[in-house]
Parts: sequence; C-alpha cells; structure tokens
Amino acid sequence: MRALAVEDDPRIAADLQAALSGAGFRVDRTGDGEEAWFLGDTEEFDLVVLDLGLPRLDGLAVLKRWRANGRTMPVLVLTARGTWQERVEGIEAGADDYLPKPFRMEELIARARALVRRAGGHATALQEVGDLSLDTNRMGVALRGVPVQVTALEYRLLAYLMQNRDRPVPPTELLEHLYGDDDAREANALEAVIARLRRKLGPGVIGTRRGFGYFLEHS
Ligand code: CA
Repeated sequence: MRALAVEDDPRIAADLQAALSGAGFRVDRTGDGEEAWFLGDTEEFDLVVLDLGLPRLDGLAVLKRWRANGRTMPVLVLTARGTWQERVEGIEAGADDYLPKPFRMEELIARARALVRRAGGHATALQEVGDLSLDTNRMGVALRGVPVQVTALEYRLLAYLMQNRDRPVPPTELLEHLYGDDDAREANALEAVIARLRRKLGPGVIGTRRGFGYFLEHS
C-alpha cells in the first residue's frame, strides 16, 4: 500500500513517515503544495495525509484540484487546532476524514486504516463508455474486454474523456489537464497522442466534433 504524506513541518513530516511506514505503507513525502498536487494527480496512492497550510499551493486547493480531476483516493486532512472552518472547508473540498493538530500518531494510523478499508470496500473501479472500459484502480484499459497497453499519459487522456463523457472536451482543456498550466505544450503534441491512441483502439472510440473537441463514442 502506498501513502502520500503532505506536511511542511519537517518534524511532523518525519513522524508521519515513520508511523505510516511502521503501519506497512510505502511512503512518499513532500512539504510543497504544487509538488503534492502533481504527485497525487499522476501517481496512485491508497491514502493521502494532507496538511492544509502549505507553501506555493494550500492544501484545500490541492484537494479541490484532485477531486476536479476525478482523483478519488482517500484523503485525511490535518487541520489547525479547533478551527471548525477548516474542518467544514476540508469536507466540502472532498476530504474523507480530518484530524485536528496536535494529534497522536496512534489515532492517525487507526483512522488511516479505516479509510483504506472503506475505500477498498466501496471502490467502483470499472468505468465504461461504449466498448471501452477503464480500471481506475490498476490504471488498465480494455476494449471489448481485451486489455490494451497504454502509456500513463494516454491513460490520463482517456480517463479525462471518460470523466467528461457527456460533452466534447476542447483541446486546450485536455492540454492543460495533461501537462498543467505552466507547461503549455503545442496543440500538435496532443494530436500526436490522440493519433497514437486511435491506432491502438481502432476507429469508433475517440470521436472529434469539429470546433468543440474530443469525446468517447458511446456505441
Ligand atoms: Ca503546515
């Protein structure tokens, strides 16, 4: 099991890492909001422990971006002592649980385990549109039940189209989702990824509506 510990206080971060490792998690650690967002958006974690006060991008913004991108991993938010606003904001932003600081590591681990159990029990991992299905737990792609090998970038593109299945997605929005805002790529980079995916998946899976964008064909 993999956990991401996001905490900019080095002492608490070290304690978190030790406690989570002791509980059997493989732990990635960062104290930077932007890096946390990127890691959570591109890697698969079974659990995230997220401090809210972070440099560069605050924890609530990180969480909202993950959820907006369809990232569903369980997130345990660490709030400042006694601030109910943070708790409410955290839950509204998509937190699964919260723990006010200071906290005992035993309690954090107990809650972390409960969240992971809950997520495992309720996971609706398989998403389908037409002949295409995505296994969001294993990041797998299948066409009429037959697995198709795709790169992480190709998977992310398909997953985004899947999440937005009711509308064509403009190329600018797809580019921003795939590469982030501060690393704008050429539109032809996107066209190359789409062309590669169409070769792998065959016709009738990724459609284009001229002037609007790309979409997954429903039948
Ligand atoms: Ca902090």
